Amino acid sequence: MDQLRKAKGFICDMDGVIYHGNQILPGVKEFVDWLYRENKEFLFLTNNSGKTPRELQQKLARMGLKVDEHHFYTSALATANFIARQKPGAHAFVIGEPGLFNALYEKGITLDDTDPDYVVIGESSSYNYDNICRAVHYVQNGARLIGTNYDLTGPTEQGIMPACRAFVKPIELVTGKEAYYIGKPNPLMMRTGLNMLGVHSNEAAIIGDRMDTDIVAGIECGLDTVLVLSGVSTRETVDSFPYRPRLILNGVGDIPGQA
Ligand SMILES: [Mg+2]
Repeated sequence: MDQLRKAKGFICDMDGVIYHGNQILPGVKEFVDWLYRENKEFLFLTNNSGKTPRELQQKLARMGLKVDEHHFYTSALATANFIARQKPGAHAFVIGEPGLFNALYEKGITLDDTDPDYVVIGESSSYNYDNICRAVHYVQNGARLIGTNYDLTGPTEQGIMPACRAFVKPIELVTGKEAYYIGKPNPLMMRTGLNMLGVHSNEAAIIGDRMDTDIVAGIECGLDTVLVLSGVSTRETVDSFPYRPRLILNGVGDIPGQA
């Protein structure tokens, strides 16, 4: 625990670490206060591509947490970065929510319904048969298929619901082409996160609730790894993975210790 407290940079997952749906988790306020008090570099990093950093900031503000906008990094921002570097000024057909559209727009990627360079799929409630048919058509015509993240399901207040990979899969099956997925555990997103913090991987820790995204990403990028049991993982499910986190905590509230 001392080693963790000495880390310069913290990359924190959000869902299952900071909140559950619209409910803040115990000890989070103390943890965020501690990050500020100790002058830590930190980033809240989420695979969900639906919300903009400002919307995430406002969501936390409604829970009583004041965090500046520049502390948020989403798979939508990472996807926009990736495409802008691969093909500046690219055209894309996009199925997603405002967080994704905004991120792409800000990187100079324009929407195109005739001959897009990319088909980009994120979480979306506007996903439908017509959209899938168009996406399939564009990919068959040579558009590159990108998923904002590899999550198959996501927790909601109504239970487990389909997430990005479940939306991309039909397009992969029909076209025979495999998508490239940007979010965690893709090291791309972690590396950019570390660059944003200005911290080397061996001075940083990742805190997450998922073994197959947060923890594996941390291991592969050389960060200290902390699993919290406030989300989807239990001590039993941890053992079903071939890798393990360095620390397992009940929640981020354990980190500040006795103030
Ligand atoms: Mg999570």
